[in-house]
Amino acid sequence: MSRYRGSVCRQCRRENMKLFLKGDRCFSDKCSFDRRGYPPGQHGQRRSKLSDYGIQLREKQKVRRLYGISEKQFRISFRKADKRKGITGTNLLSLLETRLDNTVFRMGFVNSRNQGRHFVKHNHFVVNGKKVNIPSYQVKKGDVIELREKSKKIQAISDSLDAIVRRGIPQWLEINKENFKGEVVGVPAREDITLPIQEQLIVELYSK
Ligand code: SF4
Repeated sequence: MSRYRGSVCRQCRRENMKLFLKGDRCFSDKCSFDRRGYPPGQHGQRRSKLSDYGIQLREKQKVRRLYGISEKQFRISFRKADKRKGITGTNLLSLLETRLDNTVFRMGFVNSRNQGRHFVKHNHFVVNGKKVNIPSYQVKKGDVIELREKSKKIQAISDSLDAIVRRGIPQWLEINKENFKGEVVGVPAREDITLPIQEQLIVELYSK
């Protein structure tokens, strides 16, 4: 699977908003977007008017980058969302939120989705007592996600759990910091995603 290997902060500048891809750095005065909040490249500071297609494309890229997934994976998620009952855009966001890499991030075990993907791949978590190392694994209500015993000593995880107060835990998750354990107690609601996303633009893009 091809993965973006360039500057992470460049993606925020490209999408003209903070995507919070770098953990604590995003909240510090080192944030590149806060310092240079215009698109990257030679003509980045020029204003250009986007077509309707361009606006839809940017929205899709923004969400794809936010969750750190490839175009192919994003399309697969969209197809699944389209087949489900209900509003396709909301279904899509719900599917992205319930990926295991995002869930461990939302529970506070890690300080970014990138770090979540890395830790999941390296077998640091168990789901319902079983080892799961697939970042796209879909969690569901009732699932218990736990850090493996040997991983509880990792300082980055303790630091991240200590900082969870700043980010807050969405209502569909519960966390027991002392036991390094979290539970999925519901399904993600649209209002749990607080970043400005216009998912209907993505539906329009893929419906062409
Ligand atoms: Fe984006 Fe974080 Fe980099 Fe700021 S520090 S530009 S929010 S990834």
